Amino acid sequence: MKKTPFVTKQQVEEIVKQFPTPFHLYDEAGIRANAQAVKDAFAWNPGFREYFAVKATPNPYLLKILKDYDMGCDCSSYTELMLAKSCGFDGEHIMFSSNDTPAEEFAYADKLGAIINLDDFTHIDFLEETIGHIPETISCRYNPGGVFTLSNGIMDNPGDSKYGMTKEQLFEAFKILKSKGAKYFGVHAFLASNTVTNEYYPQLAKELFELVVELKNETGCDIRFVNLSGGVGVAYKPDQTPNDISVIGAGVHKVYDEVLVPAGMGDVAIYTEMGRFMMAPYGCLVTKAIHEKHIYKEYIGVDACAANLMRPAIYGSYHHITVLGKEDAPCDHTYDVVGSLCENCDKFAIDRQLPKIDMGDYLVIHDTGAHGFSMGYNYNGRLRSAEILLESNGEAKLIRRAETPADYFATFDCFDDIKITE
Ligand SMILES: *Cc1c(COP(=O)(O)O)cnc(C)c1O
Repeated sequence: MKKTPFVTKQQVEEIVKQFPTPFHLYDEAGIRANAQAVKDAFAWNPGFREYFAVKATPNPYLLKILKDYDMGCDCSSYTELMLAKSCGFDGEHIMFSSNDTPAEEFAYADKLGAIINLDDFTHIDFLEETIGHIPETISCRYNPGGVFTLSNGIMDNPGDSKYGMTKEQLFEAFKILKSKGAKYFGVHAFLASNTVTNEYYPQLAKELFELVVELKNETGCDIRFVNLSGGVGVAYKPDQTPNDISVIGAGVHKVYDEVLVPAGMGDVAIYTEMGRFMMAPYGCLVTKAIHEKHIYKEYIGVDACAANLMRPAIYGSYHHITVLGKEDAPCDHTYDVVGSLCENCDKFAIDRQLPKIDMGDYLVIHDTGAHGFSMGYNYNGRLRSAEILLESNGEAKLIRRAETPADYFATFDCFDDIKITE
């Protein structure tokens, strides 16, 4: 089974004249087409808004592309809030869905006028003590506990997750928040991750819609939005069927009409906080084969490592690999494709059937546009790569330079007695 990269060997050969491998490459046309498809899928809901989960791909150039579609940012830390503000997102376009939140982050979110999504019941007092009031608009994160199962067998374990409030706490929270002056309310839940089925959002939406009807009846709160958060997955493997966002949108529409409209809540806005679905397929890690090693197995050493993409190392995640220029060659070799970290888990692929790889070949590691670069780290003194945008007009634009040793040593710059030189 094949997956076609959005970049060709010829294009990569042009790009590397300016920017050496490894680098993360993003596909502007793909990001735009998908953003439009998301908007179209939920166009039936006038208040709909996608708040892109910034942690997935925190790059201002990419956030600004989504801004063209009136999307917002879902932030969970001080620096993510700074990034959203710097890109010109106003409070209405910033969702602050954090957990274990430091006081100064609540204060900054409030200063920006962001929508604060409380992860815990105790955060009501914590927030009030921190900012001196309860915001007019407030959201609470719900955790139903137990196990969340979809009909294709996908399940996740909300009961084991650290996020959100119990149902009892949620009802109590709404009553207290209302008594303290909150006027407009939202409910948020994230119950399963990387779901490759069109059923996840509709099933989650039904559960949340029934919950908000009950909440409204019992607390009298004015519920303005239901936030379906993230969790919509992508087909990392070539034999998986990708989600169809138009089917997902229609599925949510159906339960909206079945549950909210008859309850007189046909004005509730749907919010989403997708990260992976918005970006993963529209990014790839481009790396070069620099070594081949023949011991008990066949290894290909590339110039990227787990510091550039850690999902395979920590989750054993599958990322498809295409050897550029050999798209149609038979996959008659079995390789482990590895990076240079002194960690045996630094393998982008294990026992992968690939065409014969020659030194200097460029490899495209697919679907790294979300939770790819952003999870990078500096172990072994490895430096973060550049990020490059393949613009809709075919030009390659540097949107983050590669780290240099000076970046790695920058946090020693406050010591006069340490000077690190080459
Ligand atoms: C990570 C995260 C998301 C995005 O999740 P994806 O799986 O990338 O869609 C959305 N909301 C919250 C609160 C998150 O922590």
